[in-house]
Amino acid sequence: MARIVQKYGGTSVADIARIKAVAAKVARHVAAGDEMAVIVSAMAGTTNQLVDYCRQVSPVHDLREYDTVVAAGEQVTSGLLAMALQELGVPARSWMGWQIPVTTDAVHGNARILGIDSDELLERMANGEVPVVAGFQGVAAAQARAGRIATLGRGGSDTSAVALAAALKADRCDIYTDVDGVYTADPRIVRRARKLSRITYEEMLEMASLGAKVLQTRSVELAMKHRVRLQVLSSFEDLPGTLVVDEDEIVEQEVVSGVTYSRDEAKLTLVRVPDRPGIAAAIFGPLADAGINVDMIVQNVSEDGRSTDVTFTLSKAELPRAVQVLKGRDDLGFERAVPDENVVKVSVIGMGMRSHAGVAKRMFQSLADNNINIQVISTSEIKISVLIAEQYTELAVRALHTAYGLDAPIAG
Ligand code: ADP
Ligand code: ASP
Ligand code: MG
Repeated sequence: MARIVQKYGGTSVADIARIKAVAAKVARHVAAGDEMAVIVSAMAGTTNQLVDYCRQVSPVHDLREYDTVVAAGEQVTSGLLAMALQELGVPARSWMGWQIPVTTDAVHGNARILGIDSDELLERMANGEVPVVAGFQGVAAAQARAGRIATLGRGGSDTSAVALAAALKADRCDIYTDVDGVYTADPRIVRRARKLSRITYEEMLEMASLGAKVLQTRSVELAMKHRVRLQVLSSFEDLPGTLVVDEDEIVEQEVVSGVTYSRDEAKLTLVRVPDRPGIAAAIFGPLADAGINVDMIVQNVSEDGRSTDVTFTLSKAELPRAVQVLKGRDDLGFERAVPDENVVKVSVIGMGMRSHAGVAKRMFQSLADNNINIQVISTSEIKISVLIAEQYTELAVRALHTAYGLDAPIAG
C-alpha cells in the first residue's frame, strides 16, 4: 500500500480508448489498496491547437486570455478520466487548479506554483476517492478572489504532478509518457540511445533545461528540492522506467550520461560595440528589465582597443523583442544587430565530468571530424554546450552519442 501520484501525458490520454486504459490502470492500484491521485495533460495536439488559435486571433496576445484558452484542454481530460473511473466503480472527482487551489504567481503563460492546499484531497483519498487533477494550471494568487487561471509553461503538467506529490507527501510520483524512460539522447533522433535505469537529479535537471523535454525543468527542480521519488515510465508497455535519484544511489557513474539538443535558440550579434567599462551592463540590463533571458555570451577581444563584437543567445520566441529593446538604444553605440535563428544548442551532460579530463576535447574533436563549425561554447561543472548551425542537429547529436560510447549494441 502506497500513496502514489501518477501523471499521464498527452499521448497517454490521446483518445477515449487510451483514457479508458488509464482508468483501468488506476483502478488496479486502487484495488491493491493504494491511495491514488492522478494528474492529466490535454489530449495530444490539443494544447498546440489552442495556442495556434490564440496566435490567429491576436499575434501578440494578452497572456491572461491565453491562459484561459490553453488551460481548457486539461479540463476535458480530467472530466473524462474521472467519468471513466466512475464507470469502473472507482469513486473519482475532477479538480481544476482553482478549485484545489493550486496557487501560482502572476506570470501568466509561465507561472510558478506557490502552494497547493492538500487537506481536502487527502481527506477524500483516505476515503478511497481518486482526485483527477487538471495539470498545467493553477490560479494566480495576486487575484485570489477573482481567481484568474494561470498556466505553468509548456510541458507544465510534469510540474503539477511533482508539486502535488510533494504537497500530498506521496511515496512516489510516476510520470507516464510515450517513451519507457529517460534515454541517453532523444530516442526519436538517436535510434541507438539507451534507457538509463537511474539518473541523478542534477543530471536530469541539466538534461531537461538543455532540451530533453521528457520532463519539464521545474518539475525536476521541485523533485530535487522536496526529495520526491520521481520515475518516468511508459504508458503503453509494462517495463521498468527510469528513476531519478540522489548521486549516492548511482552505482556506476558514466563520464557522460546524455546528449541533448535545443532548437529553441537564437543568436544575436551586436557588431562593433564600443569597448569600454559598463558596456555589458548597458546591453544586458535593459534586456533583463524586459524579462528576456540571455544564455550564452561571447565578447571578442577588440583589435583596435575601441570596438568589439558581442554575441549572445536567447530563446527564439524572445528574439523579436530583444531586437526591439536594443534598437531603441542608440546610446549603446554599436553598428548593427545581426539576428540568426538558424542555430541549435547541443550539450553533453554528466556528473563524471567533474573528475575526468578530456571530455571537452572529445566533443570538439568529434564535431571537427564531422566538419561542424562551433559558433559559441559554454561549460559548467557537469555539462558542455555548443551552438552550431541547425542543419547539423541530428548529425552532431548522433556523432557525440557515439563518441562518448553511449550507443546501445546493435541487436541481433
Ligand atoms: P508527454 O506528452 O507524455 O508529457 P513529451 O512529449 O512532453 O510527453 O515528452 C516525451 C518525449 O520526450 C519523448 O517522446 C521523446 O521524444 C522526448 N525526449 C527528448 N529527449 C529525451 C530523452 N533523453 N529521453 C527520453 N525522451 C526524450
Ligand atoms: N498540455 C500542456 C502542453 O502541451 C501541458 C503538458 O502537456 O504538460 O504543454
Ligand atoms: Mg511533457
